[in-house]
Amino acid sequence: MAEVFDVVYVGAGPGGYTGAIRAAQLGLKTAIIEKGPTLGGTCLNVGCIPSKALLDSSEHYAGALHELAGHGVKVKDVQLDLPTMMGRKEKIVKDLTNGVAYLMKKNKITHFTGKGKLVTANQIEIAGADGTKQVIDTKNIVLATGSVVNELPTVPFDGKTIISSTEALSLPAVPKHLVVIGGGVIGLELGSVWLRLGSKVTVLEYTDHICGAMDLGMTKKLQTIMAKQGMEFMLEVKVTGAKSGKGGVEVSYEDIKEKTSKTITGDVVLVATGRKPYSEGLGLETLGIERDKRGVVNVNDHFQTTVPNVYAIGDLIRGPMLAHKAEEEGVAVAEILAGQSGHVNYETVPGVIYTWPELASVGATEEELKAKGIEYNSGSFPFTANARAKAIGMTDGMVKILADKTTDRVLGVHVLGPRASDVLAEAVVAMEFGGSAEDIARSFHGHPTLSEVMREAALAVAKRARQA
Ligand SMILES: Cc1cc2nc3c(=O)[nH]c(=O)nc-3n(C[C@H](O)[C@H](O)[C@H](O)COP(=O)(O)OP(=O)(O)OC[C@H]3O[C@@H](n4cnc5c(N)ncnc54)[C@H](O)[C@@H]3O)c2cc1C
Repeated sequence: MAEVFDVVYVGAGPGGYTGAIRAAQLGLKTAIIEKGPTLGGTCLNVGCIPSKALLDSSEHYAGALHELAGHGVKVKDVQLDLPTMMGRKEKIVKDLTNGVAYLMKKNKITHFTGKGKLVTANQIEIAGADGTKQVIDTKNIVLATGSVVNELPTVPFDGKTIISSTEALSLPAVPKHLVVIGGGVIGLELGSVWLRLGSKVTVLEYTDHICGAMDLGMTKKLQTIMAKQGMEFMLEVKVTGAKSGKGGVEVSYEDIKEKTSKTITGDVVLVATGRKPYSEGLGLETLGIERDKRGVVNVNDHFQTTVPNVYAIGDLIRGPMLAHKAEEEGVAVAEILAGQSGHVNYETVPGVIYTWPELASVGATEEELKAKGIEYNSGSFPFTANARAKAIGMTDGMVKILADKTTDRVLGVHVLGPRASDVLAEAVVAMEFGGSAEDIARSFHGHPTLSEVMREAALAVAKRARQA
């Protein structure tokens, strides 16, 4: 008799591999199918991890050039060794993707290499790179095939001078002038890497602000700080085309406010205008699995597609395209399949932009609260008044807490500052527990730590900050 799995995850990104581990922990006979040569998906191979490795390395380089002398550390002749920096990044990726392979083995998850395609609601065909094909049987399927880069039809990629985030993680040399199309998270992070390494960087953004739907007050502050670092921003411009020539790539755009057409030339153009769900060749049509116009697979609150034993998670479905969101959904499906009540609280998904300083956010923005007519109190506190930030030498930014006017329940927290990604974590926990600003204000915060800014902002909600 052919082996029948309880569940097969198609795609081994953060959604697929984390879900598979949970399913195996819960005693389900689990398999995972990955078309790529390594596990870990976009996040580990060409996303979160390599970008953060380069952000940290480039921060060290910029620190050696501009910060260390102020700490009394004199370094002569600071030089960039780009091949070593790239090699370090590649080693981190290799270690982590090997780590996922180890976890698959440890949890006795069967790993198939090849492209998965739905044959029936209980059968998946796996096509290997060498042309071999096999069909496996399963009671349940979780689609976790993630997303791919969104190409602008007017600015097609050539992989060398007009590139996506993937190539921007491995450029062989520092561009003289990097033009970034899109002022969202990926454009700002990768723009920061190359700015720190010596490029002139110009960001072209269609809307009148950077960072998408994040809290406007905070994103304006971030833009001001990044402009001081040398990043140039051109807002309200619509890119209409690009032409490669000897002198570089000429990008044409319309200035929306002036209603004029202009051009800007860079030697490399990074198109960072978002990503789209990926389900090419997955056989969704065969089973009548519904998608919306953008290719987002429709699921109900239990992650079921229009075929009940076929689930979908991660970048393939609605919601923010974030690794930790995909992970939680992968785990929730495993728990549902094991008879538990797997659930994801979308109110508390943190979002981080790993610029310098970082911008981290959870819950509602001021704009959202105003639009919904929810009355709130706002408390904020700057890092300039924080002892640890002073000691580190990074005092740009602030914490802002938005709490319900009547109940004091925390509705949104926005942190712009050093290691904001880590500072935010306590706010996520507080919101998960339905906590109030008073709860944060009354909790111990070690001294001196960056987290004390969170406590002071919580105190400021009731207008009783102590340190400023
Ligand atoms: C430059 C960059 C930086 C990012 N930084 C962050 C960050 O700091 N924090 C964060 O939270 N998110 C970040 N993201 C987003 C994050 O990478 C994604 O949200 C996350 O990887 C989504 O996980 P997933 O499991 O849904 O899909 P993916 O990670 O995309 O994995 C899907 C996997 O499925 C495989 N696959 C596709 N089709 C098939 C098939 N038919 N058969 C078998 N396998 C298949 C793919 O090869 C891939 O390995 C970043 C993304 C980019 C591009």
